[in-house]
Amino acid sequence: MEFMKVALLFEELEKTASGNDLRDLLSAFLKDLSEEEISVVVYLCLGRLGPEYDDIVLGFAEKTVLKALSRASGVSEKKVDSLMVTLGDAGLVAEQVLARKLTTLVPVESLTIHDLYAGLIKISHVSGSRSVEAKSDILVSLLGRCSGVECKYVVRIALGTIRLGIAEMTVVDSLAIAFIGSKKDKVDVERAYMVCPDLGYIASVLQSQGVGGLSKITATVGRPVKMMLAQRVTDLDQIEEKMPGSVLVEAKYDGERVQVHKLDSGVVRLFSRQLQDITLQFPDLVAAVSTHLKCSSCIVEGEILALGENGRPLAFQTLMQRRRKNDIADYVSKIPVVLKLFDVLLVDSVVVMGHQLVERKKWLNAIVLPGGAMELATNMVMDDVYEIDTYFRSMLDAGYEGVIVKSLDGSYQAGHRGWNWIKWKKDYAGELVDTFDVVVIGAFHGKGKRKGGYGALLCAVYDSGSEKFLSFCKLGTGLTDTVLEGLNTVLDGNRVKEKPKNVESGVIADVWFSPIVVCEISGAEITRSPSHASGFALRFPRFLKFREKKATDATTLVEVKEMGVK
Ligand code: AMP
Repeated sequence: MEFMKVALLFEELEKTASGNDLRDLLSAFLKDLSEEEISVVVYLCLGRLGPEYDDIVLGFAEKTVLKALSRASGVSEKKVDSLMVTLGDAGLVAEQVLARKLTTLVPVESLTIHDLYAGLIKISHVSGSRSVEAKSDILVSLLGRCSGVECKYVVRIALGTIRLGIAEMTVVDSLAIAFIGSKKDKVDVERAYMVCPDLGYIASVLQSQGVGGLSKITATVGRPVKMMLAQRVTDLDQIEEKMPGSVLVEAKYDGERVQVHKLDSGVVRLFSRQLQDITLQFPDLVAAVSTHLKCSSCIVEGEILALGENGRPLAFQTLMQRRRKNDIADYVSKIPVVLKLFDVLLVDSVVVMGHQLVERKKWLNAIVLPGGAMELATNMVMDDVYEIDTYFRSMLDAGYEGVIVKSLDGSYQAGHRGWNWIKWKKDYAGELVDTFDVVVIGAFHGKGKRKGGYGALLCAVYDSGSEKFLSFCKLGTGLTDTVLEGLNTVLDGNRVKEKPKNVESGVIADVWFSPIVVCEISGAEITRSPSHASGFALRFPRFLKFREKKATDATTLVEVKEMGVK
């Protein structure tokens, strides 16, 4: 199929504000694609070139793409640069300079989806000293086969700035509509997506085998599974209501969640909560897995913690220094870590996610040989809220963040924030009522001491129903000088000219951002608010830290409603 058809679809999607219309447009289009085409279109709609756990990077700087545009169009670099200043989007510049004249003398072969994808993958493989030129050459040849509207999207794909407002769940719904019947029938697609977060692959299975093919998709070693998440309560007593009887109470570590995959071949891969491959950052853990996990293959989960000299846990920020590409060996000794294992999803090719937690813990105990950097999470079975409180306080004394209360007979619910796990953190037990993970959607220029930078941020909660980010508070407190200095670095890459269409706010910010950056804040009280799009406002919000979370994993409108207006 010609890429032109996809470009026209993208034009339509971009103009469409209603979620239902987006789904209908997408599902109608996906239905008629071949098995190979459908996966490519799904990836491109999501602004990617592969599944979310595969880091396929094109590595283009805006400057390089603008130069390529000048080469492909014959328009001078100076003119291209000045158009960029006026239009502010390289895609729009491409559309303008490469609007194909109707009377080309030599007919140009049009670009197919297959050729575009093959070209992009080729670009991602280019490395070495002349890589910038070699990548540009491929891009110029692709642009040479495009008309204006196609160029707009090829350039946005190259720069990673395709923002069609399509989230993974929109694709899940659209696939259900296209291949099963309606959005309501999405359970099977959703289940498959949680154990196999590769919507391109799921789409091609649906295309080739229909819904029956989905049941064969299970957790596989080497491919990450969406991680199970914990619910929260505002009062310790609520735990008893949600989970009557005996429960497992486990230390809540403030580190980095990791899913460890040990393959039959002996290869070990570590995935973060965002499903990024973080194996190279932890050679010490890879070595420990090889010697301390007594099974030929498995998927286990735990939390990586940085340890101080006295063996007490160090702050999450210290651990994050391990997020590096260079001098890893130095950091292995500078910041020693320990892996606290708490769950198992697969052992020796058998998927055990559907088994009760007590059973999974037995498997885990049987395969883990504690020692070195490998330990089992500390836990106890109890059935009394006072006992839980005492245990919680002893965990705080040990330097941990709190506890996670787990249902003994609960299964591992991939990608689900359910009542089988409930978190209880120290922030909840203090004077301030709660912490929230909010998404930065805008900023206000600073005054006085903060002049020249940002003075406050506009933050939102996520409404999973409408898939929109709704304003919730203006955040100025708790932003230390160090945080303020770093704000531009963290936020400016996401700056957009207008309020994005998946953002709603009655409060007008000076600057808008695509909803990507998540930060943890505390607050004293939730009140009703006519000016915030969420309908609620948080009083006395205070910045705590940036979070390595997806925006769609932030605190939801439903959670805010459940916490209630005080
Ligand atoms: P939160 O990030 O506040 O939603 O809390 C959930 C996170 O706590 C999980 O994603 C894990 O990274 C972390 N965690 C720490 N200790 C445990 C534990 N024992 N069981 C499950 N999750 C844990």
